[in-house]
Amino acid sequence: MILPLCLALLAAPPAPARPKLVVVITVDQLRPDYFDRWKGQLTGGLFQLLSEGAVFADGYQDHAVTETAPGHSTVLSGLWPAHTGIIRNSQGVQDSTAALLGATGPGASPRRFRGTTLFDWLKAADPTARALSVSRKDRGAILPIGRAREQVYWYQSGLFTTSRYYADSLPRWVQAFNARRLPFKAANVTWALLLPDSAYKEDDNEPWENGGRDVLFPHRLPADSVRAASAVAGTPILDSLTLLFALDGLEALRLGRRGTDILAVSLSSTDAVGHAFGPDSREIHDQVLRLDRYLGWFLKRVVDRVGRDNVVVVLTADHGVTSFPERTRAKTGAQAFRVSVDTLVTAVNRELDRLAGAGTSREWLSFDIGMLFLQDNGRFAATGVKTDSILDAVAARLRAVPGVRRVDRVADLPLADTASDPVARRWLHHLAPDAGVVLVVTLQPGSVWDIENLPIAMHGQPSDDDAHVPIIFWGRGVKRGTYRGRANTVDIAPTLGRLLGVTPLSLIDGRVLTDALAPRN
Ligand SMILES: [Zn+2]
Repeated sequence: MILPLCLALLAAPPAPARPKLVVVITVDQLRPDYFDRWKGQLTGGLFQLLSEGAVFADGYQDHAVTETAPGHSTVLSGLWPAHTGIIRNSQGVQDSTAALLGATGPGASPRRFRGTTLFDWLKAADPTARALSVSRKDRGAILPIGRAREQVYWYQSGLFTTSRYYADSLPRWVQAFNARRLPFKAANVTWALLLPDSAYKEDDNEPWENGGRDVLFPHRLPADSVRAASAVAGTPILDSLTLLFALDGLEALRLGRRGTDILAVSLSSTDAVGHAFGPDSREIHDQVLRLDRYLGWFLKRVVDRVGRDNVVVVLTADHGVTSFPERTRAKTGAQAFRVSVDTLVTAVNRELDRLAGAGTSREWLSFDIGMLFLQDNGRFAATGVKTDSILDAVAARLRAVPGVRRVDRVADLPLADTASDPVARRWLHHLAPDAGVVLVVTLQPGSVWDIENLPIAMHGQPSDDDAHVPIIFWGRGVKRGTYRGRANTVDIAPTLGRLLGVTPLSLIDGRVLTDALAPRN
């Protein structure tokens, strides 16, 4: 008996070894056209991924409210926001019961997140698997890992922190990083151009930039160290700090040395610079060049530590961005607006109060970034007011607002042809059935939602400017090439899952991007 058993064991094909480290890089507000605009000047990590990776040129966050929280929720879940339940920043990871550790700021946790993520699938196959997720933003760190209580850290007022959802105290390596007080040492540091002036075609002196203040290079950080530690988030420096922190964690946790681990990094300097200076600025150009150099440095250290054959990397973004409406008007003559419907919605609420009877004062309807919520359907019906007729009247008023392109009844969206109508498709991918959204408002190209009169470049529309994002795989098991077929961020998790030999634990929306995978997969 012994001999045949041994032979059988010898004959069994070895289980395919998984990569030891999956590195997931989400760049906050990265538009893929930046790669084409500054192609000859990229020499670092972006160049490496673009030239050696599987590049999906037609990649999308294919949902409607293209904000940070919904975008990050799709990256490793394989799910649209309609299924992760994360449909807007303002109802994202905020959680007053999950206080921060060692820092002062709003508590945060993934309690609103529904579904599972690649990490859960991996952990089910390999209980020793671990995840480290880091970002400048709580939502950027939390959502890629879903509900798993792993090592999840974000930046708050000069320190990296986590919340009580994850731990009762900060581990020694995080305390040691914070004790170096690197962000506070940025006082008086200047952000100057990386390359000679002549390398930048963009005009540096544009009136819509940065609220009209400090529009010219070099930009100097405040002399006060506490103010500098906050202001550093608006410069490329915070990306380098986030990557440095991620490398410290990689080392301290010895990720990628045993089974398979996940390192998720979300980088938000591109978002801060993009909001303040816009996608056509000299500042965003320099930010992307610096991001490229930082990523080159980071990837080299990861590969040196874990081994090139043991690493797979994916790079994507949570959304793109639309230029300043002021710039669009000045440069093209096109109509472009900052749109607010707050006054309109308030007026409707007061009219509904009068219909409901004397003394009533309620918020019957509320509005947030394109979505009109019906607050309490039961109470609404009890007033005897016909919901349909009210919504028709509100929709008509919304359609008359300058900058509004269309208003859809949510109940009508399933009737749309989702192949020829990307706006309807993106809303369908976005809205959780129980979210209470009754009308959705989409703006004209170039128009943006006004956010508290802030003079910033914005995203949040179901437009290609805001939804088109890079999707690039690199490393072990990846087939190099540029692929023209459409890809979505919900395809990232199932594709990595196939590469790791793990299967989703729940139904997902994405599909495996087989073009990206070498034949052995
Ligand atoms: Zn974002």
